Amino acid sequence: MINVTKTFLPPQEVYQAILKRAWDKVWITNRGALVKELEKKIQAYLQSVPLLTMTNGTLPLQIAIKALGLQGEIITTPFSYVATTSTISWEGCTPVFVDIHPHYLTIDETKIEAAITPKTTAILATHVFGNPCAIKEIEAIAIKHNLKVIYDAAHCFGVQYKGESIFNFGDVSTCSFHATKLFHTGEGGAAFCNDALLFEKLFYHHNFGHKGKEDFQGVGINGKMSELQAAMGLAVMPYIDDIIKHRKAAVAFYKDHLSQFETIKIREETQWNYSYFPLIFDTEAQLLQVQQKLNTQDIFPRRYFYPSLNTLPYVSHTDMPISESISKRVLCLPLSHDITDDQQRIVIKAIAG
Ligand SMILES: *Cc1c(COP(=O)(O)O)cnc(C)c1O
Repeated sequence: MINVTKTFLPPQEVYQAILKRAWDKVWITNRGALVKELEKKIQAYLQSVPLLTMTNGTLPLQIAIKALGLQGEIITTPFSYVATTSTISWEGCTPVFVDIHPHYLTIDETKIEAAITPKTTAILATHVFGNPCAIKEIEAIAIKHNLKVIYDAAHCFGVQYKGESIFNFGDVSTCSFHATKLFHTGEGGAAFCNDALLFEKLFYHHNFGHKGKEDFQGVGINGKMSELQAAMGLAVMPYIDDIIKHRKAAVAFYKDHLSQFETIKIREETQWNYSYFPLIFDTEAQLLQVQQKLNTQDIFPRRYFYPSLNTLPYVSHTDMPISESISKRVLCLPLSHDITDDQQRIVIKAIAG
């Protein structure tokens, strides 16, 4: 069976040697040594602003909305994983969708201003498939209209934009370390933030508001990463360059053999991480046919991202013609740290005949 992705598992001895440190201390959560070491190592590897690890990649989005005190309407993209939208609704705000760019697949910055109302408080945009949004333009709009900016950078581990980490942009950027993501801790995630005061708020919120054992600084929730998760992250970390290298070669192979098909256009000045290989078909019928053909051969690409999030049952529907059209026609092909040429050839044959 070949899936859309395959979790990279480090050698078990490597994981166990790191776990042993938690065993020896009998300390498996509440920001132990492994969590702190992982945060340092990630920041050094990415050359990013400080980060706070959490137990998944959805909580940092929710906590960012809470910490920024957002209410009312949040402008967002309809082409992302459901967590981007559900988080906004979960926090009692209203998602207001703006359609996407047809080639970059990120929110169309030229359409953002038209969606701003007196109730708008923020923009929550996704660097989808690790492709940066139009960061400079979005920042200018945010400054002009006094809006906060959160980037859902769940797909972005290792991405650099204009020579620096993609996580350095926005008031808060978030990442997911879910097992299906490029870098993972099983379940896990992080919030990146360069503002010390805001970082402190994120910190309190993610740990029940604890300020010491008996004092509380506002309301909080439990978003803490455990030592067991951090151990996995520390075990995966040394392999990340090799993981990206293999994926880069696999993407080049797909591109060579499927050049007649459309795929995502990576924004200029981006050092990409090869996190996904989305193929955009001319029609949904064509996609379904290819998907079926692959499924019968035990190959399971995924319809990332379908459906377009403006059609979710709990949001008020507005037409997003580009996102709706692309989400019906996009299929992410199998891509992993160890996919072989032969496996890719089978996929390519099923698509291109
Ligand atoms: C994976 C993902 C998330 C959620 O991350 P989890 O770690 O699964 O909670 C959020 N946004 C996007 C775009 C994602 O792909």
